[in-house]
Amino acid sequence: MRPIQMVDLKQQYSKIKKDVDAAIHEVLDSAAFINGKAVTDFGQNLAQYLSIKHVIPCANGTDALQIAMMALDLQPGDEVITPSFTYIATTEVVALLRLKPVFAEVDAKTFCLDPVDLEKKITPKTKAIVPVHLYGHAAPMDEIMQIAEKHNLFVIEDNAQAIGGVYTSAKSGKKKTGTIGTIGATSFFPSKNLGCYGDGGAIFTNDDSLANKLKMIANHGQSKRYYHDVVGCNSRLDSVQAAVLNVKLKELDNYIAARRKAADHYDKAFANHPKITTPYRAPYSHHVFHQYTLLLEGVNRNGLNEFLASKNIPSMIYYPVPAHRQKMFASFGSSATDLQVTDWLTERVISLPIHTELDEEQLAYITSSVLEFVN
Ligand SMILES: *Cc1c(COP(=O)(O)O)cnc(C)c1O
Repeated sequence: MRPIQMVDLKQQYSKIKKDVDAAIHEVLDSAAFINGKAVTDFGQNLAQYLSIKHVIPCANGTDALQIAMMALDLQPGDEVITPSFTYIATTEVVALLRLKPVFAEVDAKTFCLDPVDLEKKITPKTKAIVPVHLYGHAAPMDEIMQIAEKHNLFVIEDNAQAIGGVYTSAKSGKKKTGTIGTIGATSFFPSKNLGCYGDGGAIFTNDDSLANKLKMIANHGQSKRYYHDVVGCNSRLDSVQAAVLNVKLKELDNYIAARRKAADHYDKAFANHPKITTPYRAPYSHHVFHQYTLLLEGVNRNGLNEFLASKNIPSMIYYPVPAHRQKMFASFGSSATDLQVTDWLTERVISLPIHTELDEEQLAYITSSVLEFVN
């Protein structure tokens, strides 16, 4: 049996090596390392894949979120509501921009923003909401957009874990996650569902003037070379990464299918287990399984993690400390926020290996090992 990893990028690369190597060599031969053709092509290819007007490539997913917030002209002290149950980048950029992070609860089944608590957290200072399509499951966008419209708020979708995911709206039909709010932000970190071989990110929008602004901000606030209209930053996707992404974007739907197949295998093995809850799949969400995350009840989670490690099976806790309990946000008094579902989930989640290269033998070994410990 091949060694089991959380993500097997080596094996994945071996299957696309010829195309990736050729694409990288094309960049090397052209010497257009910055803003080369591969970058322009990738922006267009991804826009087409997502059915969105504008894709602005940038340096990483954290920058994508930051640039999105910068483009909305938020003022110091304005409040931005995010889930606490997420990767730190979602909320970190809020504080970095001198805005106030406000943490809302997630739903215990979907792990995504709970619209009821979201609406409770709105004050006259609230300006934006950042739903996260966590683990690859779409947030309830119909409800979130309805609340945003009612209170006149921007919506920035953190799509870092859900690229290629589909949300089915009761009103407007199917749309790719990240294309529903005011702006979408994503990451191409190597382990993401569409990952490059270094850092990368992108911002999406259907709004023409917002797209111009996002482009300017990502490029030193430049409208024309050496003319800087607004304060921006330097955030570029380089041509080598774009070349890799052009190859991998063609595989994305196959990669999602492979992840879903692995998830189905796990679902079946753990079905109706009294101590294990398998990931919920809301009817509106085409889950892309960036993570396969179990909820354990009455199981020694660290014990399971160590038992699996002793059998050479990695497992991870995403995330061991929710944002509202991070020291980073102590000055906002966020630890006093009452987020019982978030705290409850934080104690019980465990993520198993999921990627595009898992085979039946590996999956059977993982599930039987989990069941051996949990019994
Ligand atoms: C990975 C990730 C990010 C940040 O992406 P980077 O490219 O690492 O900066 C932001 N939000 C979520 C939910 C993520 O998973």
